[in-house]
Amino acid sequence: MNLMIDEILAYNKRFVEEKGYEPYVTTKYPDKKLAILTCMDTRLTELLPKALGLKNGDAKIIKNAGGVILDPFGTEIRSILVAIYELHADTVMVIHHTNCGACHMSGDAMIHHMLDHGIDPKSIKIARLCGVDFDKWLYGFGDTEKSVVDTARIIKNHPLVPADITVRAFIIDSVTGLLTEVPFNP
Ligand SMILES: [Zn+2]
Repeated sequence: MNLMIDEILAYNKRFVEEKGYEPYVTTKYPDKKLAILTCMDTRLTELLPKALGLKNGDAKIIKNAGGVILDPFGTEIRSILVAIYELHADTVMVIHHTNCGACHMSGDAMIHHMLDHGIDPKSIKIARLCGVDFDKWLYGFGDTEKSVVDTARIIKNHPLVPADITVRAFIIDSVTGLLTEVPFNP
């Protein structure tokens, strides 16, 4: 029983009945041939597309904690490759943001939170045995300019990303939406 989800389900039923979806109907192809890798931060949910002038159907938006790529053959690159090869995107914007929560993460602190929430210490041990390096996996990147450039470089230099794809790095202000480019040499 979760009251909040019940409310969402009730709203959803009304939304569809009243054809609230009509202004959003579009195709699966991004009209601006644009893919964006950014953070899952809730301050950006509406602010980022509004501040960039993007509407439904314009861009493929890929999100995770921090908007980073940790594994060069992980799920973010997979999504970017799908955007390029299946959905005809030719431009990638990597957008990190000011005051990001993922900045201040640490593997140790998160392990403490896990234990506080009742996770069995054995599970932490098993994860380690399975090859999880908590410090690397849950690291806080500290320097936003460096993290956005590191991420953009991984995409630009990726062996499966064609050379003619534009990749640029930005930091968005989490309050005003101001976008600042961070230039980099590939
Ligand atoms: Zn963030």
